[in-house]
Amino acid sequence: MACTVVVGAQFGDEGKGRIVDYLAAKADIVVRFQGGNNAGHTVVNELGIFRLHLVPSGIFYPKVKCLLGAGVVVDPTALLEEIAGLEKASVKTANLWIDRRAHVVWPYHRLLDGAGEQKGGLGTTQRGIGPVYGDKASYRGIRMGDLVHAEVLKERLERILPLKNYEMAFYGLAPLKLDDLLMQAQEWRSKLSTRIIDSIPMLHAAEGKGERILLEGQLGVMRDINWGIYPYSTASSPTSGGACEGAGLAPQTITDVIGIVKAYTTAVGGGPFPTELQDQDGERLRDVGEEYGATTKRPRRCGWLDTVVLRYAAMLNGFTGIAITKLDVLDQFERIKICTAYDRNGTITTDMPDTWTLGTVKPVYEEWKGWESSTTKARRWDDLPQNAQAYLRRIEELAKVPIKYVSVGPQRENMITVAGS
Ligand code: GDP
Repeated sequence: MACTVVVGAQFGDEGKGRIVDYLAAKADIVVRFQGGNNAGHTVVNELGIFRLHLVPSGIFYPKVKCLLGAGVVVDPTALLEEIAGLEKASVKTANLWIDRRAHVVWPYHRLLDGAGEQKGGLGTTQRGIGPVYGDKASYRGIRMGDLVHAEVLKERLERILPLKNYEMAFYGLAPLKLDDLLMQAQEWRSKLSTRIIDSIPMLHAAEGKGERILLEGQLGVMRDINWGIYPYSTASSPTSGGACEGAGLAPQTITDVIGIVKAYTTAVGGGPFPTELQDQDGERLRDVGEEYGATTKRPRRCGWLDTVVLRYAAMLNGFTGIAITKLDVLDQFERIKICTAYDRNGTITTDMPDTWTLGTVKPVYEEWKGWESSTTKARRWDDLPQNAQAYLRRIEELAKVPIKYVSVGPQRENMITVAGS
């Protein structure tokens, strides 16, 4: 691993945190490159169960430098809470850095997100992510580095506030006061300024020395702002291209792109989801897989694996390998389905339709016999039941990408590294 990108190959919640935690054991730097505290990465290790929202999943290794890249949006209050929670659990956070170009999520972004959801809900997590990226694109954002320049910050806020208050009034929210925002900024500055850096020298010196860099994405390709199910998408690019952009690394630096694929499909929030199950199988996947949102605790929508989505993800990201997670959740199913194509009014397609058409297609399924035995103790490929091997080989064939890892439980040791792939 010289520079490995880890990204979600579905709708998010694929188990990226768990894979990053596993791979970070051999990394020198882990960089989060997009998104904010709107998703949760769950990591289970000997220190406990952690739900990380902003902090990179490499934080559990004291020698690993953890970086929030320029493409990330940071809610400083949420970040401080997360740091406090980690420190309380004896996890050292001295090696956590924030690029000065990352944008600040203010409480008003959260309020505007919540008010917007009430009017025309897309199913956002109401953490202010859409509004803050909107402000970034329309030059009304404040960057983490601005927090340490008190005079510049005041000028910027004075310029931005009239427009923000226009929006606040539209939603019937109380107007923002400059002094309140400056006081808030002062508190953040006192607690975070030593972590705010220009990450480029750190990252590129590491690259020059041949250190191992891990780039950690959030959400998945179907939530990408360009390629996902817009407008039920996120506001950034959780793809390998987005990784270069958000972390500040050139494309040729990347040596591996690992797509994280849950052995079935889940989604939180709105938007089309062709393989969603409204039946007992769907409930069973939710119960056995404990499919409830890490950030919002919302029950996740569950369905069979969709390899139209997987192939699309592989094309857009250039996967060099995939990691299959939660195989164990399928252990007791008598039969398992894989979606291989979509039926669009009688026309069979493997291309990704637009958002609205995707909501009307019917999945074309293959049915596979389950293995009906536990895989959680498997540590090598050969330990897996024949039917599980056949299921995985079929996924590999449909994705046209080799499987590098198979996760059979949430613990660090529940992992199979696939030899020769
Ligand atoms: P992320 O956002 O992509 O990191 O995914 P989440 O953290 O939202 O969801 C993954 C959940 O599945 C977490 O609760 C993990 O502990 C759990 N998990 C990850 N891999 C496995 C696995 O192989 N088997 C089981 N049973 N649980 C897993």
